[in-house]
Amino acid sequence: MALEWNPTQLTILRSMWAARATGLEIGDALGTSRSAVLGKLRRLGMVRSAGAIRKPPREPKVEKFPYIARGKPKPAPETLRPGPVTMEHLAAKHCRWIEGSPTPDPLYCGVAQQYGSPYCQKHTRMSFAKGSRFAA
Ligand SMILES: [Zn+2]
Repeated sequence: MALEWNPTQLTILRSMWAARATGLEIGDALGTSRSAVLGKLRRLGMVRSAGAIRKPPREPKVEKFPYIARGKPKPAPETLRPGPVTMEHLAAKHCRWIEGSPTPDPLYCGVAQQYGSPYCQKHTRMSFAKGSRFAA
């Protein structure tokens, strides 16, 4: 679909381009696309050099991993009960390691789980240790 450029549109195009508006801004003003504007400008020989193209202002840089930048890990909010917990008080993030021998009412370690493990750091290591009751 070829856009018919009427004299009014051409005047707007030229004046906005002279005022350093972007192709997108001109396209919005004329109700056409950025590529239609840039195509017309090229046919009119009104192309800015690459260095003269106005760039949109950069967004302020957001630190994605501020704790890495600070060099210190963020302390995890400690909401878990310290020490052994009963089944009744066992939360989703509690270490599942059973303290002592399993009984009908076992006590679980209850320390915060290590990421990706049902156990805390100490018990994850113990579960992989040679001779462990959970080692293969
Ligand atoms: Zn544990």
